Amino acid sequence: VLQRKLIFTMDVEDWFHAENIKKYVGETTYSSLPRVYDVLDYLDSVNARGTFFVLGLLADSVPALIREVKDRGHEIASHGLSHRMLGSLSEVELLRDLRESKDRLEQLTQSECIGYRSPCFSKHPCLDEMLIATGYKYKSCELKASFHDRYGSPGFGGSQLVRDFALPSATVFGKSVPASGGGYFRLYPASFQKFLLAMADAEPLIFYCHPWDFDPCQPVPSSVPRILKVRHSIGSKRAFRKLSRFKFDNVTLGELVYTS
Ligand SMILES: [Zn+2]
Repeated sequence: VLQRKLIFTMDVEDWFHAENIKKYVGETTYSSLPRVYDVLDYLDSVNARGTFFVLGLLADSVPALIREVKDRGHEIASHGLSHRMLGSLSEVELLRDLRESKDRLEQLTQSECIGYRSPCFSKHPCLDEMLIATGYKYKSCELKASFHDRYGSPGFGGSQLVRDFALPSATVFGKSVPASGGGYFRLYPASFQKFLLAMADAEPLIFYCHPWDFDPCQPVPSSVPRILKVRHSIGSKRAFRKLSRFKFDNVTLGELVYTS
């Protein structure tokens, strides 16, 4: 039986960028980003590499961290500039966001940034055209069961395509259930998530998480409604141990664009 690939991906953003709690957090000096180093150590220890979707603004605030991710053999892709939802951006703003995040990350790592994941998988009608116009080769911002479709782009010449690496979901009792994701990763027992991944109709399977999924010490302010607080941090203490239950491949999405 051929094993499907399981690709590790992380959206590199701080705990206060999370959409659920963003508006409740004022000035803060606490950062969850150092957890990324622990994740890098873990991936090294199991000989796995993956793709890190990084906020463009972090190229200025934590350049050493991003270089470290790159130097350890992982791919640096874009998670946009500052985590603004795509629905709130005009076409011009979207173009600028895509271009500037790519430029900043490329200048820092001295290598091409060809992948993009939108904040919270948000949508924009012009996304594919804009990705092609700004030189991206793939996106990973759909949550659906099948992701073999490629998007042509009539406006920019039919031969140019943006590969779509969607996140896996499984159909359980006729309902589509996400099989991957930071919150789901923390919430589901590892065995259940593995069951969902096995049921998902996708190749490769994409795992995703955030630095703050591994941080039980986030100073989430008391003004954050309890339900959001629980959703944000449930299971973070166990997240590390849980990670070791998955067997990740030693390949990045960027590499797969050219080989599959
Ligand atoms: Zn995000």
